[in-house]
Amino acid sequence: MIDLPFLKGHVAAVMGLGRSGLSAAKALLASGAEVWAWDDKEETRESARKAGIPLVNLASCDWKRPEIVVWSPGIPHTWPRPHPIAELARKAGRPILCDIDLLLRARSEASYVAITGTNGKSTTTSLIGHIFKKAGRKVAVGGNLGTPALDLEPLSSQGTYVLELSSYQLELVPSAGFGVAVLLNMTPDHLGRHGGMDGYIAAKRRIFDNQAPPATAIVGIDDEHGRRICSELKALARSVVPISAETKVKGGVHAANGLLVDDRKGQNETVIDLNSVRTLPGRHNWQNAAAAYAAATESGLDQGAVVEAIRSFPGLAHRQEFVGINDGVRFVNDSKATNADAAEKALVCYDAIYWILGGQAKEGGIDSLSEHFGRVRHAFLIGEAALSFAHSLEGLADYTHCGDLATATQAAYEMARQEGIEGAVVLLSPACASWDQFKSFEDRGDQFRALVNALPENLGGVA
Ligand code: ADP
Repeated sequence: MIDLPFLKGHVAAVMGLGRSGLSAAKALLASGAEVWAWDDKEETRESARKAGIPLVNLASCDWKRPEIVVWSPGIPHTWPRPHPIAELARKAGRPILCDIDLLLRARSEASYVAITGTNGKSTTTSLIGHIFKKAGRKVAVGGNLGTPALDLEPLSSQGTYVLELSSYQLELVPSAGFGVAVLLNMTPDHLGRHGGMDGYIAAKRRIFDNQAPPATAIVGIDDEHGRRICSELKALARSVVPISAETKVKGGVHAANGLLVDDRKGQNETVIDLNSVRTLPGRHNWQNAAAAYAAATESGLDQGAVVEAIRSFPGLAHRQEFVGINDGVRFVNDSKATNADAAEKALVCYDAIYWILGGQAKEGGIDSLSEHFGRVRHAFLIGEAALSFAHSLEGLADYTHCGDLATATQAAYEMARQEGIEGAVVLLSPACASWDQFKSFEDRGDQFRALVNALPENLGGVA
């Protein structure tokens, strides 16, 4: 837990008592602050009260008292409409910030690598954390991924915090000042919360504000927004490393075709063939790897150690996670693919796919994926979306209605085994939310892994 001595004896309002709010309230209490905590949901307040968190109704309190408001990034405070409590705090001139800001203030002597982007944040953050650990550096990994910021261990000047940051968090970090900051990519997302694309871009761009030494901006230039931000930063004579998974970039790091090339000093040096790293399949992961390589080496880590660490990355659960192989049939858990865009990233990686999909459909369904249906040997449909997905697949790929995951896994395995095609993959990449049949995408992926492990014969072997 992070000590916040500068708030000892001060009143701090905490709005939102989910994971990060609870963690902030506890860190504040332990630091001797007077905590005024609140949540719009009665149930959440009740469990916080039971955990010993003092509650004060922030909608009707004396706003002269709290000096800061620690806001949970998940709660809209500006768009689509200002939250009444945020309005009261602003009227009283109280700064609204999130736990990341408190970490930066409390551990200003440590180094920071911050990662944002529409997609790939968790993979890149974990990969950077893994590289630092393998290189023998003291590191703590968290933020939007895993451990909330104030539950991380206190690090000194020798340590590095590797933080995944969402656009919601970045809006609430007035003292941003990351040594190395990564913006992977930007496509329209959460626009309702940011008042449109411009607001979303502005929030993401904050990651490059007031950077501390070495003040390196690593910018993915495979989309127009990243390209513009990269040019703007260069025009300001900032230290920028452009990265791409699609084209060569002079003076940057690129991974077109999977060969990771470092051209930061014009040396055009190929450092690793990412096609040989099984845990980072697909062009999207090459972007993540290019960013992680650039972030680690810009942080002063030895190039050889960084490359070795990329090779040994264990991968992240539920993101094209290799689960096992049986009779030549590989099983891949991509349960995190909760929409068509994410599922597409997996579909392009394999040629003989026994595709398990369905659940609670997102807008647009899977029609956008039709160009990849040729890679699908057979689709195994589950959950609420089965009928509409069958409609999309009609005439383009064969399918079977399976109802649930257990039936689908068994049926997919049997068919793949019988057909005996080289490179056959049973792929759970549902293109759907999980809520109709599971607690979460993690639960869905865990169940798939358990089903695969329970299949007879020699699962879990080498791919
Ligand atoms: P995030 O934390 O930003 O949600 P993850 O690393 O958890 O991202 O990856 C989630 C899914 O997003 C992956 O399963 C994959 O389908 C897709 N993805 C990962 N990296 C990228 C990337 N660099 N560009 C586009 N899509 C990506």
